[in-house]
Amino acid sequence: MISFRQTRFLVSASEFKQCPPDDGAEIAFCGRSNAGKSSAINALTGQRKLARTSRTPGRTQLINFFGVTDSVRLVDLPGFGYARVPTSVKEHWHRHLDSYLRQRRSLKGLVLLMDIRHPMKEFDGMMIDWSRSSGVPLHVLLTKADKLSRGAQQACLHGTRRELPNTISLQVFSATMRSGIDELQHRLNVLLEPSAEKKEP
Ligand code: GDP
Repeated sequence: MISFRQTRFLVSASEFKQCPPDDGAEIAFCGRSNAGKSSAINALTGQRKLARTSRTPGRTQLINFFGVTDSVRLVDLPGFGYARVPTSVKEHWHRHLDSYLRQRRSLKGLVLLMDIRHPMKEFDGMMIDWSRSSGVPLHVLLTKADKLSRGAQQACLHGTRRELPNTISLQVFSATMRSGIDELQHRLNVLLEPSAEKKEP
C-alpha cells in the first residue's frame, strides 16, 4: 500500500516538453477551477501547503508534478471554467493539456474533481469523453460534500452515478471534514498497481 504522506513538490511545467521523464507511474488530478483540487491533494498527502490553495479562480496555470516515491508521481493539471482567464491562455493550456493526456505513457489514472453542488459541467464531460477514448481509468470525486446534508450527498452520488459509464468510479469527498481520504487512497493504489491493466471503454 503506497502512502502519500511523503509526497514532495518536484517541478512545474508550463509546456508539455518541460514534463519530467515519462517513466514510472503517475496519477493526474483535474477539475474546473475552484473544484477543490488543491485542497484534495493537500488532504490526501496530509500537508497543508503542498498544492497552493487559492481563492482566486483560474490561477493554477502550470502542470505541477509531485513525487510520492522514486517511481510514483501525482500531477496537478490546470483547471478551466472561469471567464476571467483570457481565451489565448485557455487555448495555450488546452493544447498542452491535450499533448499531456494523449502522449504521457506513465499516466495510469485520472481523478476528476467536481463540486458536489455543480457536477457534470462541460469540462467534466470533456474529461469523461477523453478517458473513454484513451482507456485511461477515471475516478470522480464529488468535492465539498460538507456543503450538503447526508441525504443530498447520497442523492447527488446516485444521480451522477447514473450519468456515468460503469467503468468510471466515484465517491463523495470533503477536504474540510477529511472524509473520503481512505477511499481515495485505496482507489489510487489500485490504479498504480503494476499489474493493473487499462480498462477498455
Ligand atoms: P482548486 O482551484 O480546484 O485548486 O480549488 P481549491 O482547493 O483552491 O478550493 C477552492 C475553494 O473551495 C477554497 O476556498 C477552499 O477553501 C474551498 N474548499 C475546498 N475543499 C473544500 C471542502 O471540502 N469543503 C468546503 N466547505 N470548502 C472547500
